[in-house]
Amino acid sequence: MNRFAVISPPVITPSEVPAGAFMLAGGLAARGIEAPIHDLSLGFFRWLFLEHAPTAGFANCTPSLEYLISPGTEFYDPHKHRSVCGVLQSVLKAYKKNFPGWQLSLMDSVPPGIAHSTADLISLAKSGSTPFSRYFRLWLKQNSGTFDHGLISLAYLSQLPAAVEIAWLLEESGIRVTVGGSLASALNDTGSGIKLLKGCFRKVTLDDGRSIVGEDQPFLSKIEWPVFANNWKYFSSRPVIPFPLTTGCTWNKCLFCPDRDKPYMDISVKNLERILAGGPENPVIHLIDSAIPVKTIEDMLPLFREKTSGFYGFARPQGDWLRDGLLEKMTDSGCLMLQTGAESGSSGILQRFMKGFSPDTAEKVITKISDSGMRNYVYLLFGLPGETEKDRELTLAMVRRLKGKIDYMNLSVFNLPEKCELTDRAAEFGIIPGEYDSDASVLRFYRPFQSIDGSDPRKEAREFIKNVFKPDPAVIPVLQSTPRWFRAGHMALMKKTPLL
Ligand code: SF4
Repeated sequence: MNRFAVISPPVITPSEVPAGAFMLAGGLAARGIEAPIHDLSLGFFRWLFLEHAPTAGFANCTPSLEYLISPGTEFYDPHKHRSVCGVLQSVLKAYKKNFPGWQLSLMDSVPPGIAHSTADLISLAKSGSTPFSRYFRLWLKQNSGTFDHGLISLAYLSQLPAAVEIAWLLEESGIRVTVGGSLASALNDTGSGIKLLKGCFRKVTLDDGRSIVGEDQPFLSKIEWPVFANNWKYFSSRPVIPFPLTTGCTWNKCLFCPDRDKPYMDISVKNLERILAGGPENPVIHLIDSAIPVKTIEDMLPLFREKTSGFYGFARPQGDWLRDGLLEKMTDSGCLMLQTGAESGSSGILQRFMKGFSPDTAEKVITKISDSGMRNYVYLLFGLPGETEKDRELTLAMVRRLKGKIDYMNLSVFNLPEKCELTDRAAEFGIIPGEYDSDASVLRFYRPFQSIDGSDPRKEAREFIKNVFKPDPAVIPVLQSTPRWFRAGHMALMKKTPLL
C-alpha cells in the first residue's frame, strides 16, 4: 500500500493552509487514506526567517513572526503590521542577493531567464542552487522515509520553479511523484502550455483527485479535517481554513471569464461541519468561492456564529445582498470582510461585458457592507476593450462618492484570457487577439490584443491610474491602508480604522 504525502511547494503566502493541498488531503482523509500535508512554503519561510536569518546575520525576524501569530490584540494594528512585514521583506531582499536574477517575495518567485520555460526550469532544478535548494535538502533528509508517493499540489505559477525542483529531488530519492492541482487544470482548460507543464514532470493529473482513489463522484463531495506533517502555526493571528460553498460560479456570464466551463456544484454543509469538528477551535473560514452564493449563505450563518471566529470571501456586488438585512445578519454572525468585484463605475462597460449589476447597485452594496461594520476590499478593473477616458472618470467618481466606505482596494489592468467568450468574439468588441513574439515555450493564461480603432485601452488605463486615479484624495488613504503583504487574509484581521 502506498504511503502518500500531499506537498505544497513554495511560494504561496504562508498565512493559511493552501486550499488545493487542504482539499486533496481532506478528501483523501474522508476516504480513509492518510496523506499528511507538507506545506513547504510555510516550511521554507520558517527556515529562512527563524533558522537561516540568524546565522546569515540578517535582521532578527522572531519578534515580527511572534507579532503576526500573536498580536496581543483582537485585530492587527495597521502600522505595526506594516513595520513587521518590512522586517521580513528586508530579510528576503538580503537573502535573494545570493541568487542573481531571482525575484522572491512572500507571494511570488520568478527564476532568472525566460519565465516559466520548461527547459530552464528543469536545468535550474538540477543545478541545486536555487533559493529553495538548501531548505529542500534538509526537508528531504527528515521526511523522505515517511512516504513513497508524493502528491504535489500546484495552484500558482509562483510555485512552479520549486515544484519542478522538489519533484526531481523526490524522484532521485526513489519516491514516486504525481503532480496536479488547479494550475494544471486551468492551463489545460483555459491557458496554453499544458504540454509544456507535462514536460516538467513525469506524471501530471488533471482531475480533482478522484483518479487517486478510483472514484467517479466529485472529490469535494466528501471531505474532512486532514493530517498535517507538522503542527506549525501559520503566520496569522487566527487559524484560517479555506472552504468553498460551491464550485463553478452562480452567475457564470461575464464575457471575459476564463472559468465558465467549470461545472457548478453546491458543496454539502456537512463537509464544513466535519472539518470544523476535526480542526482548531474558533477558526476563521476563508470562503474561496468565485462568488459567495447569496441564496445559501444565510443558511450557513448559525454554523459560522457558533463554531468560528469569523469568515470572509468574494462577493459579486449584486442587489440580492441588500435584501432582508442580510449584510447585518452576516456581520452579526462574524463576517469580517467582503471582497467586492465592483470593477467599473461605467454602466456601459459593466453591461457590455455582462457583469450583471450596475455601478449604482455596486455602490449601494459597498456602502451597506461598510455601514454594517464589515471591511470592504474593492476590486477595480481598468483597460477593458473599448474603455474610454469617460468610463475611467466614472470609476473615479464612484470611488469619490464612496469616500470613507472602502477599506482596501485592488487595482488591476485587464488581461485578455487565452480562452474565453470575449476572445472568441473579439471582432465584435473591436479587438484582434495577437500572439507573443517570443519563440520560447512558456506557460501562459493571457494573450496580447490590439484595438481595431488604434486605441490602446491598457496603456491609457495605466497612465490614468498613475497620473489621475492614484493621486486622487479619495484614493490615497485607501491605497495607504491596503497592506502590501499577506493581503486578504490579514486584511480581514486588521483593525478597521475610520478613513477620512
Ligand atoms: S463572477 Fe467571476 S467567476 Fe463568475 S462569471 Fe464573472 S468573472 Fe467568472
